[in-house]
Amino acid sequence: MDPATYMSTTHAAAVTGAAFLAALRAALPDVRLLTDRADTASYRFDETEYTHPGWPLGVALAASTAEVATIVRLAAEHRTPIVPRGAGTGLSGGAIAVEGALTLVLTRMDRILEIDTANLVATVQPGVINADLGKAAAEHGLFYAPDPASFETCTIGGNLAENSGGLRCVKYGVTRDAVLGLEVVLADGTVIRTGGKNVKDVAGYDLTHLFIGSEGTLGVITEATLRLRPAPPPKLTLLAFFASVRAAGDAVTRITEAGIVPVTLELMDAFTIRAVDEAQHLGLDRDAGAMLMIESDAGGTAAEDELDRAEGACRDAGATSLVRAADPTEADWLREARRKAHWSLEQAGVARMDDVGVPRSRVPEMLAAIERISAEHDLPVGVFGHAGDGNLHPTFVVDREDPTAEERINAARGRIYEAAIALGGTITGEHGTGTAKRAWLEAQRGPDAVRVMRAVKAALDPLGILNPGKVL
Ligand SMILES: Cc1cc2nc3c(=O)[nH]c(=O)nc-3n(C[C@H](O)[C@H](O)[C@H](O)COP(=O)(O)OP(=O)(O)OC[C@H]3O[C@@H](n4cnc5c(N)ncnc54)[C@H](O)[C@@H]3O)c2cc1C
Repeated sequence: MDPATYMSTTHAAAVTGAAFLAALRAALPDVRLLTDRADTASYRFDETEYTHPGWPLGVALAASTAEVATIVRLAAEHRTPIVPRGAGTGLSGGAIAVEGALTLVLTRMDRILEIDTANLVATVQPGVINADLGKAAAEHGLFYAPDPASFETCTIGGNLAENSGGLRCVKYGVTRDAVLGLEVVLADGTVIRTGGKNVKDVAGYDLTHLFIGSEGTLGVITEATLRLRPAPPPKLTLLAFFASVRAAGDAVTRITEAGIVPVTLELMDAFTIRAVDEAQHLGLDRDAGAMLMIESDAGGTAAEDELDRAEGACRDAGATSLVRAADPTEADWLREARRKAHWSLEQAGVARMDDVGVPRSRVPEMLAAIERISAEHDLPVGVFGHAGDGNLHPTFVVDREDPTAEERINAARGRIYEAAIALGGTITGEHGTGTAKRAWLEAQRGPDAVRVMRAVKAALDPLGILNPGKVL
């Protein structure tokens, strides 16, 4: 774009933006609206390292569905883009600010509207923190299964928009599997409901699952009806140490092949074990090449039996030692250590966490590919993740001052995605496409599938105002 056109375009955008903000203030005088750069700065980034957000026109913290609907309607009228945002813990740049767009934060809509014990469902606003829903359900002897490692900070709205996974997916599935219905504000401000408390409901197209994982590009989720389950018995926890990640990967394959379905099957490589032990002083085997954390919530002797069988599979794969948590407190402690793997790696530098998935039988090959590619790009890498789902998080740890780090990471992660695709896997198991993986979407899904996605986007958001530049 030549400088004169650029100046007139940016001037026009500024005029439209100012008119939009004036209309917003007039329509919703009580809405919390931040426009000062000192206030909006903290809403520019999410947890993805090496993203390059713009400056938002403003940040609105909506308090109700009606406010969200008015904001989106006015945004459409003024052709001003909207970036929906939860807690900003995302790891694919989905909630990062877009230059000149309004960031619409949903964290003030944080009420659990109902825990319906007769129907085993919860109805919640999108800003509810995942862990708070877990605690509220527990008070009724119930349990909300999806639990991303960020569960103490991330919102249900973010979980729905990313179709997040977590540490219990092997047995209970991902966020999608826990959703019965949504309330969604569409790109023109219309409010729709896609389902409710019915366990079975197949009327028309499945819009609920269209919005799940759509990363704020198709609608703004303002309420969700979620499936609860009876709380399972306390877990039994097993740690299995191996000489290499390959052996640990082999154990994952053997466990899956044996038909064992633990609630948790998590992996840490040597680099991550050392970082976690260094940061959290747990007495882990720092000489081990890899570790699996395997948990059963089957209860009583069934849990003992499940872990006995998992131990057998680990032994057959060459486990060097097998340790069971002495009691639930020690188990909680170990699980917490795994949840803090990313934080532990961050103590050593910038930790750029990635996310790939492969069919579970290909986990050993994916681990080998990550090891090889990282060495070729001279990048220290810690690998951990939900190995029981075939979902791994290679995390590059680099010096913040290293000027070549971003370029080298981008080159290495491109090769890791290629390796995942070649193994029949995916460029993202749970963190989403966002801005970070947009360029690889076509390689993953193929041009025809991406064309269908664009058609869906055009049908639901013809003006392209919802989270532009994300996913597609
Ligand atoms: C330490 C750490 C551990 C993590 N562990 C896991 C894990 O185990 N599993 C996992 O899957 N992820 C994990 N994550 C990633 C992240 O926490 C999840 O993606 C989470 O669901 C994001 O929620 P959020 O509220 O922070 O959403 P944000 O980051 O604010 O937003 C994420 C996306 O959702 C959209 N969005 C948010 N709210 C709405 C809404 N109401 N309507 C429409 N769109 C919306 C945004 O536009 C954006 O595209 C982890 C992150 C960190 C930092």
